Amino acid sequence: MIARPSSSVTARVGILGGGQLGMMLAGSLYKLGADVALYDPDPHAPARRRYAHVTTAAWTDRAALARFFSEVDVVTYEFENVDATVITELAGSIPFRPGLSVLTTTQDRLAEKRLCRAHGLPHARFEAASCADELREVGRAFGLPFIVKTARGGYDGKGQARVVDEASLDRAAAQLFADGAARRSLILEEIVPFTMEASCIVARDAAGRAEVFPVFENHHERHVLDWTLVPARLPPAVADAAREIALDAARAMDVVGLLTTELFVAQAGAGGRTVGEHAIFVNEFAPRPHNSGHVTRTATTLSQFDALARILCELPLSSPRLLNDGAFVMGNLLGDLWLERGAPHLAFEEWARHPEVLDVVLYGKHEARPGRKMGHFVAHAPDPSQAIDAVAAFRRALGQAHPAG
Ligand code: AMP
Repeated sequence: MIARPSSSVTARVGILGGGQLGMMLAGSLYKLGADVALYDPDPHAPARRRYAHVTTAAWTDRAALARFFSEVDVVTYEFENVDATVITELAGSIPFRPGLSVLTTTQDRLAEKRLCRAHGLPHARFEAASCADELREVGRAFGLPFIVKTARGGYDGKGQARVVDEASLDRAAAQLFADGAARRSLILEEIVPFTMEASCIVARDAAGRAEVFPVFENHHERHVLDWTLVPARLPPAVADAAREIALDAARAMDVVGLLTTELFVAQAGAGGRTVGEHAIFVNEFAPRPHNSGHVTRTATTLSQFDALARILCELPLSSPRLLNDGAFVMGNLLGDLWLERGAPHLAFEEWARHPEVLDVVLYGKHEARPGRKMGHFVAHAPDPSQAIDAVAAFRRALGQAHPAG
């Protein structure tokens, strides 16, 4: 670790994870003059291409993690599946943001839902099971249909199954224990007939002062985020209620950093918190910058990364307001686009024909794989439907194969 420059605002910040979220957070920290150290087992982690101070070691490497913690003033993480056992030993020595219990709660879907229940945050009915036989027994009593998820470790729809009848119950039991494990913590959830998925980011500092971002509308394809629209197409009272729920969740967990609350919005009558004709449910939490929050780098006066950087450097927050009327949209660029085009590069020269696209970010990942997040772009349009159309149009243009010359 280099010596701290005298002009630095404060901290040497350690980030566990050198993926695109860590890479962009590091950028915001450098802007403030902070020193940044990154830790990632992957020698090709995107942040490595841009930043020098990267420790390459396993998440379970106690000695490497202890050294990492000893060289910085504050540690945060860019994804919540870091091993909490080792971190628990080290997190007492320096501030660990957004908090150790935030990490352990958000690593476990059952703990998340129990927290919701304890704090009056709206959620789908749920039940726990821990082996294949219990899944069948609890599932029948719970009532079909339902979604069963592994309580720990799953993301982007991995480790979950939809159970609609006895045959799919058997399939789910086989699939979730296919690795031979006898026991595994599972959560069964009622299927929420949502009309929209949304997310809301809260930034909260050590004194408990919080700023809440506008609500984002999220669209997934095959369980992976496809686009994020801001502002979400919701009546103001529903958006306000969603922001209130997100703020209550951040307070309940005493978050010092960022908390993203992923929400379902359904029609009233389906349970959840009713606001007019709508009902809101918490789906899950992410205690870190969020994929949907990429839109804030271009759409709001404060980005999610700048907000977290300020909290880590103990600088005041400001209110994240939309920079313009109309609609902003973030479209993910997945590896599929590269694979379909069959070329190492997309047709970025087409950007010239798409002035509505304000920003393109590429993570510098070595290999395109189906569903892998390779980059994203943000576009602005006068209204939401034009913004959503802009996503498909720009992706089509990037994938277009042009004859050489
Ligand atoms: P998750 O990994 O929990 O975010 O789930 C991935 C996706 O599965 C969500 O974005 C939803 O589209 C869907 N999903 C998860 N839980 C439920 C639920 N209880 N009801 C309806 N859809 C769900």
